[in-house]
Amino acid sequence: MVNKVRIATASLAGCFGCHMSLLDIDERLIELVAQIEFDRTPLTDIKQIGSCDVGLIEGGVCNAENVEVLKAFRRHCNILVAVGACAINGGVPAMRNQYSLAECLEEAYLSGSGIDNPQIPSDPELPLLLNQVHPVHDVVWIDYFLPGCPPSADTLFTFLGELLSGQPIQFAYRQIRYD
Ligand code: SF4
Repeated sequence: MVNKVRIATASLAGCFGCHMSLLDIDERLIELVAQIEFDRTPLTDIKQIGSCDVGLIEGGVCNAENVEVLKAFRRHCNILVAVGACAINGGVPAMRNQYSLAECLEEAYLSGSGIDNPQIPSDPELPLLLNQVHPVHDVVWIDYFLPGCPPSADTLFTFLGELLSGQPIQFAYRQIRYD
């Protein structure tokens, strides 16, 4: 029996677009899935990550829960990959970094347009917001960075295929130009 590579994925402060790009691999997913098994992912709904070969992280780090999840991925994954612009440089969520956290909360919950019953949410179940959104490599060591918003399905397929076969990661020119 072939030993399968165990993969976990998570979306931190992301839009799930990078996960959607994975699904856009379409029918080629069948050959990938024959070689892998999933641990914690939005697909399996496993809440706690176990021991994994590869972890794919989408999204920046915007709150205390993101930090906890990211550190758990680093502890449990042999290879950790930052997938997409938000994970690599904060991307869209990091646009809030030009304002203070207080200004963001004020605009979102108190004085922005169309707000009914203005109040800043304070339920203790809500994860504590960080003052700024961080790229994932600010928090843990990252082994690979896959740029793009999102990285294309072709790029993800090439990356995962070469990783699974133990080959050096090499992309065609069209997969690493972004203009
Ligand atoms: Fe969404 Fe783009 Fe960020 Fe991926 S990189 S989570 S597609 S905004």
